[in-house]
Amino acid sequence: MPDAQVSETLDNARQRLAQALRDADRPAGHARLLAVSKTKPAALIREAYACGQREFGENYLQEALDKQAELADLDAIVWHFIGPLQSNKTRDVAEHFAWVHSIDRAKVARRLSRQRPSGLEPLNVCLQVNISGEASKAGVAPHDLDALADEVVALPNLRLRGLMAIPAPASDPVAQRQPLARLRQLQEALRQRLPQAPLDTLSMGMSDDLEAAIQEGATLVRLGTAIFGARA
Ligand SMILES: *Cc1c(COP(=O)(O)O)cnc(C)c1O
Repeated sequence: MPDAQVSETLDNARQRLAQALRDADRPAGHARLLAVSKTKPAALIREAYACGQREFGENYLQEALDKQAELADLDAIVWHFIGPLQSNKTRDVAEHFAWVHSIDRAKVARRLSRQRPSGLEPLNVCLQVNISGEASKAGVAPHDLDALADEVVALPNLRLRGLMAIPAPASDPVAQRQPLARLRQLQEALRQRLPQAPLDTLSMGMSDDLEAAIQEGATLVRLGTAIFGARA
């Protein structure tokens, strides 16, 4: 997709989000857009930034670090790490991102907290839940979520913002909403248990299920294809 179109696709994505919020009887601005830029060149991120987009999600650490270096002049950019995270790669994530959505075990969380530089704000984290129970998928199982959340909330340099999930693909809206509703319920239960944690973020909804996610209370939707086009 040529660079010139990002302004248009981003505008469409914003309108789509605004319409979904209206349809769900939720206030405008109740959910925001994370632009997922994995596999896409830094020039497209720069283009989206020029159109006012500030939050970007990346999945692959080395690719993300390279783009961050190229875009170091964009001083209000906010980087989210949303990909699988190995425990031997936590240091770079702790040093170069504002958010991590893919925490699914305590070891990774402990390392991120220990490695977060003292001059930076605490790292904002979401716990990734394996909401559709797929054996091959990342994420903490729902029945292990409480134990993980209890550990994370006690770590000094992390801020527990909420939950994230990538449900199994489903084409009809009813089937799409089921796992999203379940994630919302898990988040509500956690808020009861851990009133001291911010827990204000429900990271769910991608290009194909944005509307369903907004119906179920998403506050941060992660759009890749809808903004930057199909990935090779
Ligand atoms: C790639 C990716 C997205 C974006 O998916 P699209 O379908 O392209 O919008 C969102 N979240 C995660 C975790 C991803 O890996």
